[in-house]
Amino acid sequence: MLQSAEKVDFHCHSTASDGVLSPAQLLERAIGVGVDCLALTDHDTIAGTRWLVEQGVPESIHLIPGCEISTLWGSREIHIVALGFDLDNPDMLRFLTAQGRARWQRFERIAEKVSRRLPEYSLEQCLEGALGQARQAQEKADPNFVLDDQDIQIGRPHFASWMVQQGLTPDRNAAFDKYLSAKRIGNAKQHWPAMADTVQAILSWGAVPVLAHPGRYRMTGMKLQELIRAFSQAGGLAMEVVGCQQPHGERETMAKYCEKFSLHGSMGSDFHGPWSDYVELGRLGPLPESCTSVTELLLPA
Ligand code: AMP
Ligand code: MN
Ligand code: MN
Ligand code: MN
Repeated sequence: MLQSAEKVDFHCHSTASDGVLSPAQLLERAIGVGVDCLALTDHDTIAGTRWLVEQGVPESIHLIPGCEISTLWGSREIHIVALGFDLDNPDMLRFLTAQGRARWQRFERIAEKVSRRLPEYSLEQCLEGALGQARQAQEKADPNFVLDDQDIQIGRPHFASWMVQQGLTPDRNAAFDKYLSAKRIGNAKQHWPAMADTVQAILSWGAVPVLAHPGRYRMTGMKLQELIRAFSQAGGLAMEVVGCQQPHGERETMAKYCEKFSLHGSMGSDFHGPWSDYVELGRLGPLPESCTSVTELLLPA
C-alpha cells in the first residue's frame, strides 16, 4: 500500500488535541481530498487514532499511527513526530501517559501564571476556561468523540480560545502574542522530556522519529543546523521538508540539510482545521529530488 501511496500527509490534528475536526471528520476529509496515506499526529496523545482504528478505517486509506511529541532541546520546545508504532506497545503507552501527566501539570502551571497576570480571574476560572474550550470543541465537532477530562490534552490554543471568548484579545494570534508565546508568561515548557531521550524512546518502539516543522522554530541558520545535527546524532531519522505555507526556498534549504545530516524527508500539512485554503490535508508539493522519502522507512518489513 505504502509503495503505491501517492498523496500522503504525515502531520495533522483532531479534537483529541487542538484541531477542530473530530478524528472521524478528519479521516473523511482526508479521503475526500484524495489522501491515501495519513498519520493523525495529535499533540502527545493517540486517543484519536485509537478511536479511528476501533471504529474501522476504510480500505481506501492507510492510517499510520502517529503522534507529535513535545520535547526540550536546552530551553527550547521542539516537536518530534513519531510515525509507525504498534498502538498497544506498552513502552509507548507508558511514555504517552507520562506526557499526559506532564501536559496536565503544565496546564495548571499556565493557568496559575495567567490568573496572576489577570487578577480579575481566579485560578479555577482559568482552569475551567481552557478545559471548557477543549470540551466544547469536541462536543461541537462530534458528540460521539468526547474524551474524559483527564484524557484531554490541554494546550495553549485552548487558553487562547478562552481569552478570545472573554474578549481579552481580538483573536488567537493576539492571545499568543500577548500572553502565551515563548517569551510570555503563559508559556511553561519545563515539563517536557529531553529531545534526545525522546528520539531514543521512539526508536525503541520501532518507530520513526521525525523533526517537525524545522522552519518554524525562529532560529538562525546556524542554530537550526545545530538542532538538526543534535537530532541526527541522537538517532533521529527524518525531518519535515514539505509543509503548507512555507516561505519561498524553505523546502530546498531543508532538503539540503537532510542530505548534510543523513535524514529522510517527510511531508505534513500540520492541518488544524478548515479555515485557510492554503493549509489542507495532503495539499503538499513534491519532495525535492535530492531527498529520500520517509515512506521508505515506513514500508512494512
Ligand atoms: P501547546 O500544545 O501548548 O504546546 O501549543 C502548541 C500549539 O499552539 C501549536 O501546535 C499551534 O497549533 C499553536 N500555536 C503556536 N503558536 C501560535 C500562534 N502564534 N498563534 C496561534 N496558534 C499558535
Ligand atoms: Mn497544534
Ligand atoms: Mn508542532
Ligand atoms: Mn502539529
